Amino acid sequence: ARPSHRIASLLYEIDPGSQVVASGWVRTRRDSKNGFSFIELNDGSCMSNLQIVIDASVPGYEEHIKEAGTGASLEVRGELKESPGSKQRVELHASEFTLLGKADGDTYPLQKKRHSFEYLREIAHLRPRTNTFGAIARVRNCVCRTIHDFFQERGFLYVHTPIITTSDCEGAGEMFTVTTLDQTPSSAGDYSEDFFGKKASLTVSGQLEAEIYACSVGPVYTFSPTFRAENSNTTRHLSEFWMIEPEVPFFELDDNMQLAEEFIKTLVQKCLDECAEDMAFFNQRIDKEIMTTLRNILDNEFRRISYTEAVDLLLASGKKWEYPVSWGTNLQAEHERWLTEEHFGQPLIVYDYPRTIKPFYMYCNEDEKTVRAMDVLVPRVGEIIGGSQREHRLDVLEKRLVECGLDAEEYWWYLDLRRFGSVPHSGFGLGLERAILLLTGMQNIRDVIPFPRTPKNAEF
Ligand code: ATP
Ligand code: MG
Ligand code: MG
Ligand code: MG
Repeated sequence: ARPSHRIASLLYEIDPGSQVVASGWVRTRRDSKNGFSFIELNDGSCMSNLQIVIDASVPGYEEHIKEAGTGASLEVRGELKESPGSKQRVELHASEFTLLGKADGDTYPLQKKRHSFEYLREIAHLRPRTNTFGAIARVRNCVCRTIHDFFQERGFLYVHTPIITTSDCEGAGEMFTVTTLDQTPSSAGDYSEDFFGKKASLTVSGQLEAEIYACSVGPVYTFSPTFRAENSNTTRHLSEFWMIEPEVPFFELDDNMQLAEEFIKTLVQKCLDECAEDMAFFNQRIDKEIMTTLRNILDNEFRRISYTEAVDLLLASGKKWEYPVSWGTNLQAEHERWLTEEHFGQPLIVYDYPRTIKPFYMYCNEDEKTVRAMDVLVPRVGEIIGGSQREHRLDVLEKRLVECGLDAEEYWWYLDLRRFGSVPHSGFGLGLERAILLLTGMQNIRDVIPFPRTPKNAEF
């Protein structure tokens, strides 16, 4: 392995006077007439570039410097020196330089100007080399680490739920089914439309399986890819996304709300603490209000209102909605955003939804009209978390399955959990990409996942 330093430690940690090695990709190069050049080098470890000063006395300079255009990769050895300019603490004075991979700066698809996100989606193989996408990758990483820390510190077990399943947890019919490639020579290349003779699909949620573990080993969480055949092109839906689903036994809806609020606040706080440079960039270049929104999330308790109150507010608002509101209809993004952004100006937990618009597994309230569901809504994004207290009463659950037109026999194992040692339990699902939208101020969910899968894109 090459003993190369990350640029983040060269810029912020290592003392001037040290002999160091840096490697990365050229962001810009300026050649002076007097036989030396300045290179801005980036390696993705932080937003800032390291300035390299290199002159004609360095071996290879004359032959190769012109090939080190924007996009080229280099390894540079030399002395870290205090920088005379005020922009940066240090710069690297090269004594050796190796051009690892040349690039023609003129035809490199990333030019110095700002490119549109649409254009960058077409070059998903190069977009992580931009400031914005480097920052998103680092923030996403920080969020993932924080998610594990958050649950691990609270004694939750991380369980792996299956990707291939036979249960449609959400009942929304948004599943991708699994097919098997026929291996017999005569029909090689044909697909049979099942999983070795049985119907199976890609998971839309790990909840039902997580419940099995929660009702055996205590609090658990999943963190898994999730697939939904959403044949719509919104800026908040992907065909493949990541979901985090805690499930907790002996937990009621209020406990669930409390956990969800702590969870989101922790994600926000950690990003502000650990990704300060990237977060400042988002605030400056992507959304000037993002810091205010995030501080506001930290400083206030989430509001809690029932679905019925939410509908009353929407009806009283006097707004013309694209989707009309009445008690019993699903809240749409426009309603969710109005409630959290305009009406309350802060995150909101809406609970007790009509049972007719929610899946079979949610706990039925005494009013016989609502279930103990909760959605967490945040400014800019709308729904970020959906959760509920689960129906743990066997007789009620059996009735609900019938009411939802489901085959109780297919859920025999789920019913067994209610037959033997049933306990109240609750959980929720956070969409990772929705969380990243909130944290970065980015507008389109395609831009906060490295490789977005949507009806129009599965290429790379
Ligand atoms: P929406 O109403 O926005 O379609 P949902 O109610 O269908 O979401 P849930 O089944 O409650 O979603 O899933 C839990 C969480 O997973 C959601 O709150 C959201 O954060 C995220 N999520 C759901 N569908 C998608 C998707 N297609 N792409 C990205 N994230 C999603
Ligand atoms: Mg949906
Ligand atoms: Mg929803
Ligand atoms: Mg939901």
